[in-house]
Amino acid sequence: MTDSLNITIAGAGIGGLAAATALARTGHSVVVAERAPKIGEVGAGIQISPNGMAVLRAIGVAGDLEPVSLKGTAVRLFDGPSGREILKLDLEKHGHGLEWRFVHRARLIEVLKAAAETAGVRVETGREVAPLPEGAALPGDDLLIGADGLHSKVRARVDEATKPFFTKQVAWRALIPGDGPPVAEVHMGPGRHVVSYPLPGGLRNVVAVEERSGWAEEGWSHNDHPGNLRGAFAGFSPRVRGWLEAVDECFLWGLFRHRVADRWWDRQQVLLGDAAHPTLPFLAQGANMALEDAWALSAAIGSGPLPEALARYQDQRRERVLRVVEAATANARNYHLKSAPVRLAAHGILRLVGAVAPAQPLRRFDWLYGYDVTREE
Ligand code: FAD
Repeated sequence: MTDSLNITIAGAGIGGLAAATALARTGHSVVVAERAPKIGEVGAGIQISPNGMAVLRAIGVAGDLEPVSLKGTAVRLFDGPSGREILKLDLEKHGHGLEWRFVHRARLIEVLKAAAETAGVRVETGREVAPLPEGAALPGDDLLIGADGLHSKVRARVDEATKPFFTKQVAWRALIPGDGPPVAEVHMGPGRHVVSYPLPGGLRNVVAVEERSGWAEEGWSHNDHPGNLRGAFAGFSPRVRGWLEAVDECFLWGLFRHRVADRWWDRQQVLLGDAAHPTLPFLAQGANMALEDAWALSAAIGSGPLPEALARYQDQRRERVLRVVEAATANARNYHLKSAPVRLAAHGILRLVGAVAPAQPLRRFDWLYGYDVTREE
C-alpha cells in the first residue's frame, strides 16, 4: 500500500472526476483543476456500457446515476434507406444481467463532481494546468494526472508527438424532443449511419456520420445548418427523416484518428482517458475507457510505489485500449458498406444470426463488457 499522495488532476471531464473520486476514497489528497469557467456544459448523450457501469458502481456513483439516466433494454440495427430491421440485441435477455445506461453528459458530470466533492476532492474551475517542464519536479505535489482530453498538453510532454489524420468522416450531433422505449437504434446506409436513443426529460440524442473527402474541424462545438444534416440523409427511411426534421440546432465535427499513446507516463505525470487514446465514436467507448482508466490507475497507485505503479497501469491498459480502438474502427466499416450486393449479404447474415443464435452478437463482446473491477485491485 502506498502512502497518501498529493495529486493534481488536469481536467474535470468524465475520466478526471472518476479518478479523483477513486483516489480520494483510498486516502489520497486530490485537487481537480478545470480550465473551463463552468463544469459539464458541453456534450449530449452518452451510452455507459456494463464495463463503465462496473467502475461507477465500484466508486459508489451508480446509484446516483439511476434517477438521471435510462436503463437501455436493446440495440436495434436497421437498413437506413428501407427502414427494415436487421438485428435486435436484446440487452435484457442476452446481456448476462449487465447494465447499459443512456445519460446526458452534463448529468453524468454533475453526479461525478458531487461524488468527488463528497470524497473530499477540491474542484477548481477556470484553472488551466501546464504540464511538468522538462527535467523539473512537481512543486508540492507527488503526481499530475493529465485527464485533459483530446488536445492534451500533458500528452505533448509525455509521449512523442504525431499528427492525427482525418478519417474522411464527419459527425453531427443533435438533441431533439422525443421519447420512446430505452432502445439504441443504428440506421446503416452506404457511406453513412445514424445512431439515436432517448434520454430522460423527453429528449432524444441523435448522432449522424457521413463519409466525405472535405475537411471539417475537430471539436464538438461547431454549429452547422440542420439543412446539411437533412440533405445527407434524404435517402433514409421516414423514421430517420422525421428525427432530422425536428433538429433546430446541430453541431458538426471531423472525425480524426489519433494514435494511442506509446508512453502513458513520465516521472511524476500520467495520462488518462482521451488524453492517452481518443477513440472514434463507433463503439461508444471513449467515456467508458476513461472510466476504466480511472479505476485501473487508482488501483495501481494503491498497490505500490509510484514509478512501478504507473508502469503497471500502462501495461494493464494499453493492449485493451488498442483492441477497443480497432473494434470501433471495424464497426465504422461494417456500418457504411457501399456495394449493394455486399450490404445485402451482410444484412442477410445478421438476420440469420439473429434468428438462430440471438445471444451470439453480444457474446462477441464479452471481453469488453465483462470488465472485472476486482481484477485490478
Ligand atoms: P474530456 O471529457 O474531454 O474532459 C477533458 C477536460 O479537461 C475538459 O473538461 C477540458 O475542459 C479540460 N482541460 C483541457 N485542458 C486542460 C488543462 N490544460 N487544464 C485543465 N483542464 C483542462 N463515449 C462513450 O463511452 N459512450 C458514448 O456514447 C459516447 N458518445 C459520444 C458522442 C459524441 C458526440 C462524442 C463527441 C463523444 C462521445 N463519447 C462517448 C466519447 C467521450 O465523450 C469521451 O471519450 C470522454 O468524454 C473522454 O473523457 P475524458 O475525461 O478523457 O476527457
